[in-house]
Amino acid sequence: MVSDQAAITRQVKDASDIVSVVGSYIHVVPAGASFKAICPFHNDTRPSLQIDPKWQNYRCWSCGAKGDVFSFIQNYERVGFMEARELLARRAGISLEANPQENLFRVRLLDAMKWAEVAYQNNLLESPDSEAQTARLYLGERKLTGPTVRQFGLGFAPLAGDWLLQRAINDGRDLNVLKDVGLLGERENNRGFYDRFRDRIMFPIRDSRGQTVGFGGRILPNSPLLERSPKYYNSSDTPLFQKKELLFGLDLARHEAAKVGSLAVVEGYTDVMMATQCGVLNTVATMGTALNERHVLQLRRFAPKVILVYDADDGGELGVDRALELFIEHDVELAIATLPDGLDPCDLLVSQGADPFRKALDNAVDALDYKLNHLLEKSQGSTVGAKVAVDEILGIMASAPERPGQAGQVKRELMVTRLAQRLGIRQETVWARYGELRQEKKKEAARNAPQQSGGYSYAPQQPANSTPTPKAAPASPLEKQLLELLLAEPSLVAVAKNELKLEEIQHPGLRLLLEKLYSLQEAGTTPDIDGLRLVIDHPALIAKAMEFQEVGRAASERPVLLRKVLDEFERRTLQANKQQLQNRLTSTITDEAAMDILRKLQGRGTGTDPFQGAPQS
Ligand SMILES: [Zn+2]
Repeated sequence: MVSDQAAITRQVKDASDIVSVVGSYIHVVPAGASFKAICPFHNDTRPSLQIDPKWQNYRCWSCGAKGDVFSFIQNYERVGFMEARELLARRAGISLEANPQENLFRVRLLDAMKWAEVAYQNNLLESPDSEAQTARLYLGERKLTGPTVRQFGLGFAPLAGDWLLQRAINDGRDLNVLKDVGLLGERENNRGFYDRFRDRIMFPIRDSRGQTVGFGGRILPNSPLLERSPKYYNSSDTPLFQKKELLFGLDLARHEAAKVGSLAVVEGYTDVMMATQCGVLNTVATMGTALNERHVLQLRRFAPKVILVYDADDGGELGVDRALELFIEHDVELAIATLPDGLDPCDLLVSQGADPFRKALDNAVDALDYKLNHLLEKSQGSTVGAKVAVDEILGIMASAPERPGQAGQVKRELMVTRLAQRLGIRQETVWARYGELRQEKKKEAARNAPQQSGGYSYAPQQPANSTPTPKAAPASPLEKQLLELLLAEPSLVAVAKNELKLEEIQHPGLRLLLEKLYSLQEAGTTPDIDGLRLVIDHPALIAKAMEFQEVGRAASERPVLLRKVLDEFERRTLQANKQQLQNRLTSTITDEAAMDILRKLQGRGTGTDPFQGAPQS
């Protein structure tokens, strides 16, 4: 399957000449053998962007933006790789149906969702049953109007445990598909199906393109089920629906967000609906989880600024710390809005209309200032307090993982400058303290290394079988050179795979790249960057791979260089094994054991020794 996908990627790339693609977005002029343009990725005045038709890549000499035709679309349109590929495929008239089976599966699931949405909705809007009337009454009490309810596609799932099931049977639906999307549950021992949502208002959860992929259900306030079921219940994670990455209302809010340049994140579905009803159209909500990196990556596709809305002034202390940490490494602005009187957005909007809510958004405070204000308020102007404040903020900065790319560095510089200004300390002093804290965090991380840190991960949240987070410890020059050569010349991957074990690569990011190159090779797919992009959902790491490729391309006699690199790896391994034996020697007590180790060190072992470099004859 990966190989089909890789073939399509290559086909799309071949059909998308970088000069004409870039030229369809911005004005491009010839300059010698290449082309140039005003760079769209920074505030450019004279053309700094160079587009190279030979290597099919681009580079900005001013801001450092660079990549191939996919990277250009990803950065310009702010989309992920798959969407960039889809865009270019459409442009080139290439069909992406690599795997009709898989597409069909998805289409079936989406179709089941659509069917259920309509059933629930009709029930809410039209059913004469008293239950449905209660549901309508409840929404009316919440001051949600008919058009809003329709716009968001709300529905009602009745109390009976087989309401949806009976409809599905009558309509000839595939019950297993309804189970796959989390609407029906299956009893043990083949005793049939039951409705998962009962006596609940149904909120369709849609992806950014407006397709319903899951439901959130809110139980009716007087429901007999209330005592033994949660107030809110979401679809469990399904092939369509991943709670961690979805944002309620994004399909509707994205257009306004593009206009006004910001997205406001609130906590509840009804907050989003009421804001929309009152004309504040750029609001979304997470699915009952704290904001995570997946969300941030989604949000930044649609707006350069994210405003977190908190109910009360001290409500989100912890949330602010986490969000700050999260945003340090991303090219997004983060601001905090606090609502007056500790009201939630829905109550505020209902009781006072859109104005105070809008005002709160307009007055949202930059997250760093927000945090500083709080800390300084607590310290009441004492020097000790200021010191504590600096330490706390630098601590948050030091905890954020450093990712390749410039966004993080720029953010850190900005934060240090502002800290120094606000507190009247020299920047050098702040940087020095930051260095100390960073060292401490690194040591701490090393101590905790074996049991993979818990909490939320900065890696794109992937299914368990792929892409762990590459951590940023410096890679050795030898490891870098290996990747440079392999990425510049994919045919060399087979050579490396025969001789070099993955475990010999220390740097987690580089090891991941190598691992995926090996598995592409094994799957019979060309092990190159286009192949990697399908299996590594980590833009920063792919950007790094492209850098390596560029360096590698500049080298001549790559097979010879690879030989040298592999020999050096082998020499190191032998050296390490020897060292290990030597260490054992110094700590060995009996003469006999010592002699045995000595023999092995001299290469006269028995052939069963695990540390032996070469097999014995
Ligand atoms: Zn630029």
